[in-house]
Amino acid sequence: MSSTASTKRVAVIGGGILGVSTAVHLLREGASVILLTERGLASEATGRSLSWLNSAGERSTPYHQLRVAGIDRYRTLFAADPHREWLQFGGGVMWNTAGRAADTAARHAYEKSVGYDSKLLEPQEIATATPGINPSAVPESAIFNPGEGWVSLPDLVDFLMEEFHARGGELVLNAGKVSVTVDTGRTTGVETAAGGTYEADTVLVACGAATPSVLAPLGVNIPNGSPLSMLVLTKPVKHDLKAVLNTPRAAVRPNPGSALALDHDWYEGHITEHTDGSFSIPEDVVQELADEASKLIAGNPELKPASWKIGYKPIPGDGEPVLGELDQVPGCYVAFTHSGATLGLITGELLAGEIVTGKKHPMLATFRPGRFS
Ligand SMILES: Cc1cc2nc3c(=O)[nH]c(=O)nc-3n(C[C@H](O)[C@H](O)[C@H](O)COP(=O)(O)OP(=O)(O)OC[C@H]3O[C@@H](n4cnc5c(N)ncnc54)[C@H](O)[C@@H]3O)c2cc1C
Repeated sequence: MSSTASTKRVAVIGGGILGVSTAVHLLREGASVILLTERGLASEATGRSLSWLNSAGERSTPYHQLRVAGIDRYRTLFAADPHREWLQFGGGVMWNTAGRAADTAARHAYEKSVGYDSKLLEPQEIATATPGINPSAVPESAIFNPGEGWVSLPDLVDFLMEEFHARGGELVLNAGKVSVTVDTGRTTGVETAAGGTYEADTVLVACGAATPSVLAPLGVNIPNGSPLSMLVLTKPVKHDLKAVLNTPRAAVRPNPGSALALDHDWYEGHITEHTDGSFSIPEDVVQELADEASKLIAGNPELKPASWKIGYKPIPGDGEPVLGELDQVPGCYVAFTHSGATLGLITGELLAGEIVTGKKHPMLATFRPGRFS
């Protein structure tokens, strides 16, 4: 990797949204960047994400603030071109099963209390708030969050990679399992599975659900709570849905090309992990999810699964993001979080700022990896 004496050389491991976003922000800040990833870009969670942009419900105040800032950065991107098919702000709608109206009302009251835009609607009021939903699927009240949106992460990665290449970033695909190299306690760079070495002043480990296993050889323990998950993309279908739906039996969002993206967690027990690391699920379970989703859409269109992808959804053991430099290994940073779609742009920006300036950003104070030491 070529660099001038004053240019910071950074190696980023992981071609998901966190690695790609941080790499691009580093290039914007003047760093020299090499991005290495095991296979292709967006090959793991980023390639199979519902990617609902939100801070709905209740969570810690710093996590809420970071997510709201995350949505803000997407708003800026959206404002530059509102016609991108892969980034839209049509709001979000959630409801609970029958008999849980009090929980729905409590969630709405909490959201209002933190200034999050939240409307409590009766089923017959939903159509005037947002189109394309079957009101008879809503047993009691629903919450509409008008400020939420969705992104297709593979499209966002393509978009960011254009800038990555234009700014002179170096990309190494199919690098196999890359590891961090250390000399006398300080990060020196990275090594690919085939033994190729790259020197760097700083390394960022953004390996999604594999992050704890990449850090373990450094003596760093990050608890891993990543569950198995699946994303289904339907064949193109005529629908008017604009919002992301979070409902008891299916989560649904629009996807480019008139398709819908579907996920949930009730079918987790039907997923089989094979010895070669691949996953499978019975096709009738995939169709059952599509049928559940169909019930939510106005006109109940027949939904046919076009593809489905299964793998781990990155979630740190305590549910909070893990962001920043390792105390034990100076020069090695980590980016490992749940809701990495919502946080993709903001965490890339803040981590790149920390790496280039050496100044810690206050919004990341409670998310440091050192909390597990
Ligand atoms: C079904 C599902 C639904 C989701 N819904 C939402 C949502 O609604 N809203 C939201 O905000 N977020 C959501 N998420 C979460 C979000 O998609 C992820 O947090 C985000 O995509 C993670 O990005 P990442 O870059 O951290 O990891 P990944 O996308 O997993 O990328 C990690 C990369 O690192 C590579 N890698 C791993 N180990 C190594 C190694 N040793 N050497 C080299 N490369 C390596 C992998 O091959 C991969 O390319 C969802 C995720 C899933 C799966």
